[in-house]
Amino acid sequence: MGRLSGGAVNAHGVISSPEEARVPAMDHGFLYGDSVYEVVRTLDGRPVAWPEHYDRLRASAAALYMELPWTRAEIGGRIRETIAATGLPECTVRIVVTRGPGPMSLLPDGCDGPRLVIYVLPLRLPPPEHREHGIEVSIPSRLRNDRRALAPSAKTGNYLNNLLALVEARRAGGVDAVMVNARGDVTEGTTSNVFWVRGGVVRTASLECGILSGITRLHLMRDMRRAGLPLEEGAYPLDDLTGADEAFLTGTVRGVTPVVRIDGEPVGDGRPGPVTRRVGALLDELLRTERGDW
Ligand code: PMP
Repeated sequence: MGRLSGGAVNAHGVISSPEEARVPAMDHGFLYGDSVYEVVRTLDGRPVAWPEHYDRLRASAAALYMELPWTRAEIGGRIRETIAATGLPECTVRIVVTRGPGPMSLLPDGCDGPRLVIYVLPLRLPPPEHREHGIEVSIPSRLRNDRRALAPSAKTGNYLNNLLALVEARRAGGVDAVMVNARGDVTEGTTSNVFWVRGGVVRTASLECGILSGITRLHLMRDMRRAGLPLEEGAYPLDDLTGADEAFLTGTVRGVTPVVRIDGEPVGDGRPGPVTRRVGALLDELLRTERGDW
């Protein structure tokens, strides 16, 4: 096979270009969003924090009563062979586990799965001006899913709620949406976690608010504590965020992105602040020292 330099999809063992890749129309992942996934970026051609992403994939699957039949090393090997088929120096890797094809019924019984689909695409990071000058976010009317419904702690193929929140935010002029929960407390962005700073103290929503436990969030919280930055996790109303001195989003692809406006109003002085810059430097350091482990 020639080099798939535009990217490749490994659809349950068959590697082809993203345009040619096929999954069965009866797959419950397609029919019902009955799937889980992870997004990993590479650094020097190796996936960053793969062990943590694998553990979260397992936990997301368990939340859907699904058990992964593959070890970390097995999926790691398939990622490696898919990356090798592209020859790409750096990529974004999406690992999707679907329930598999089955009868036209909500029940997963009788599905021929789980099935593993790995997407390897050229790494596309946000434009540098996002990090340099910050972005505007919008608070959509749409709420983050309640933990008692489809829990945000599971990274499932059912991202429609976040998708609609993002569309709403874009229409309002935001680059991303930061959602609140039914209590009105801050949760997270559509594919990122949110932090903000008040009087030198960094705050972020606790898992109880209904968020995904971001791997970037966890790494940065550990490193902020090590660096002696005061940090609090909890349930905070929206005005705690809108009245903050600084705010930023974190995620595998987003890195640390300053938030300088919320629905048109400046955050602090409307420029990326010193704490945000410091946390950005902590992430740079983390990526410099990370040794991607398959
Ligand atoms: N929240 C949501 C809803 C997400 O989709 C993501 C992206 N996986 C994140 C937070 C950030 O998580 P991570 O740092 O693991 O990329």
